[in-house]
Amino acid sequence: MYDYDLLVVGSANADLVIGVERRPGAGETVLGSDLAVHPGGKGANQAVAAARLGARTALLARVGDDGHGRLLLDSMRDAGVDTTGVLVGGAPTGVALITVDPSGDNSIVVSPGANARLTPADVRAAAGLFTASQVVSAQLEIPLETVVEVVRSLGPGTRFVLNPSPPRELPDEVLAACDPLIVNEHEARVVLGADAGSTPSQWAEALLALGPRSVVVTLGGDGALVADATGETHVPSVKVDAVDTTGAGDSFTAALAWRLGLGESLAQAARYAARVGALAVTREGAQVSFPTASEVAAL
Ligand code: ATP
Repeated sequence: MYDYDLLVVGSANADLVIGVERRPGAGETVLGSDLAVHPGGKGANQAVAAARLGARTALLARVGDDGHGRLLLDSMRDAGVDTTGVLVGGAPTGVALITVDPSGDNSIVVSPGANARLTPADVRAAAGLFTASQVVSAQLEIPLETVVEVVRSLGPGTRFVLNPSPPRELPDEVLAACDPLIVNEHEARVVLGADAGSTPSQWAEALLALGPRSVVVTLGGDGALVADATGETHVPSVKVDAVDTTGAGDSFTAALAWRLGLGESLAQAARYAARVGALAVTREGAQVSFPTASEVAAL
């Protein structure tokens, strides 16, 4: 029996958002709306999404010893995330500076801050969390060498799920550990490089050839394609009125990872995750948009 259904290893950022009539060009100053500060970062988002669903969730991450770090810790604790693995200090909390125009187009500058200081040694020091977790999930907003140490730290029965975002080519050792590797179209193309192919089925096949035991290609409003050695299954999306797709991928990944740990097949877990992702796009924001299990059941 594991203490945690899911251990998320990843980033925690404060998203600083200002609405503008027009995004500024070089050398230009524009006036914008009041500043909104939202808890974000793919690691924190996944942890909050899983905890909101009822998963016993821990996060291994690093934030700064500052107001943004405290905001993030509060948000995670409110959602029920175990934050004993969240390290504090070493650099300012990661920040995303976001300007959004009325059409919804945005410009984003990310300062990784403390996320870039989550080291392989931090992973080794948290060995107890790894052996206590049924599933471990990671993304790439922390150093790649830290993700490599994560796959080396997995317990014998622990399942590993990776969303390679922001995408880059991945070492064989990391690819071989993924079950599944979860990508959207852009991530698939970057991970595959020049020979990506042009259809989700081709991406899934080419990704499987790189070594992961299974692959999930998410397709926004078109659902997701799941693939492993036994074949491919298309999981349709749930039809909803999309308001804001921020966090759809993070909530989908967290839900899928949790349901796999409960013993569901990849296709079953993806069907549940598609309902979670659909609910997340019906509401503004990232963490605040993530549904509870009873909301998923009611959909
Ligand atoms: P993001 O980066 O916006 O968080 P992503 O590109 O990583 O997301 P998506 O493929 O957009 O991931 O979304 C993940 C899942 O969420 C989809 O596979 C789908 O099940 C669900 N989803 C996303 N957008 C919609 C939508 N408009 N309607 C219904 N379901 C959706």
